[in-house]
Amino acid sequence: MAGNIFGTAVYYDADCNLNALKGKKITVLGYGSQGHAHALNLKDNGMDVTVGLREGSKSWQAAQAAGLPVKTTADAVKGADVVMVLIPDELQAETYEKDIAPNLKQGVYLAFAHGFNIHYKKIVPPADANIFMVAPKGPGHLVRRTFTEGSGVPSLVAVEQDPAGDTMEVAKAWAAGIGAGRAGILETTYRQETETDLFGEQAVLCGGVCALMQAGFETLVEAGYNPVNAYFEAIHEMKLIVDLIYEGGFQTMRNSISNTAEYGDYVTGPKIITDDTKAAMKNILADVQSGAFADEFLADYKGGFKKLYAEREKAANHECEKVGAELRGLMSWLKK
Ligand code: NAD
Ligand code: MG
Repeated sequence: MAGNIFGTAVYYDADCNLNALKGKKITVLGYGSQGHAHALNLKDNGMDVTVGLREGSKSWQAAQAAGLPVKTTADAVKGADVVMVLIPDELQAETYEKDIAPNLKQGVYLAFAHGFNIHYKKIVPPADANIFMVAPKGPGHLVRRTFTEGSGVPSLVAVEQDPAGDTMEVAKAWAAGIGAGRAGILETTYRQETETDLFGEQAVLCGGVCALMQAGFETLVEAGYNPVNAYFEAIHEMKLIVDLIYEGGFQTMRNSISNTAEYGDYVTGPKIITDDTKAAMKNILADVQSGAFADEFLADYKGGFKKLYAEREKAANHECEKVGAELRGLMSWLKK
């Protein structure tokens, strides 16, 4: 049943009513990571789901083969009661202007899985539209797989505009419909979801952690150690540590490591993550809050993603990736 942790409302299946969606004409735009999972899970829950895609999209066949009706983006929006936008964040604003906005029906429920475009006002929907978010805290393939296994991925829900007065009920029904009510549906706001998501992926999860692992690898290799040892110690073993933290927090992890490792953890961590690092994190957060990061990202997209593609290529050619690829080739247990 519904609960509350640290001021956040948490809902489960028993707190959600799928009837808030049943009978409504539902459109899912995009059939990628999130799109296929939302569309299929809702369909399996008896919902009337249509997928909207670009003409000639590679996903068109896949969605049809899964038994979903497919239309062009504009046609799929026409007449739909609920439209969930699951296309890449950088494409949403132009797609909204061209194909979504001109076809939205009065009083539509318009939804997103990430707050980016609404929060930074790259999309400004009409006042009669009901705006909600269902943001699964995991990739789409996991949203689909856990659903078919009888569980789900915890998800955030938020409501930004509510002229109809029942938008949170619709959002909770959507979240439960994709399986999140089995795991936990946490209520948040567009601002909170967007800013914490961007900060987390940049400062910690993706940017911070990858840069830390790569610097550790480089330090060992530059000091003359074998790249294989360096890869194991600085990169590969990260998963083992993270799995323990995921299971039981830092204490469970520290219970499992040696006293030597635990002692080193306490005395060395603060030498790596210093006051300067915290100051850098605060600057990163300020750029997320001001929208400067969002604008920089969209400017790179508009210029053909020069920065994104150059960085992607540079990262792919780093020595650590070559060492890792060879090592994984030797690890029979990784090839299920
Ligand atoms: P994706 O790149 O996996 O898939 C995007 C899909 O959109 C593709 O099927 C593409 O063909 C389609 N598409 C592109 N332009 C289109 C158009 N004009 N009309 C219709 N379809 C179009 O994207 P994703 O990772 O599923 O991300 C979708 C949204 O979900 C984003 O807002 C993202 O922030 C959010 N999200 C993603 C994850 C994740 O783990 N991938 C997690 C939570 C939230
Ligand atoms: Mg994220």
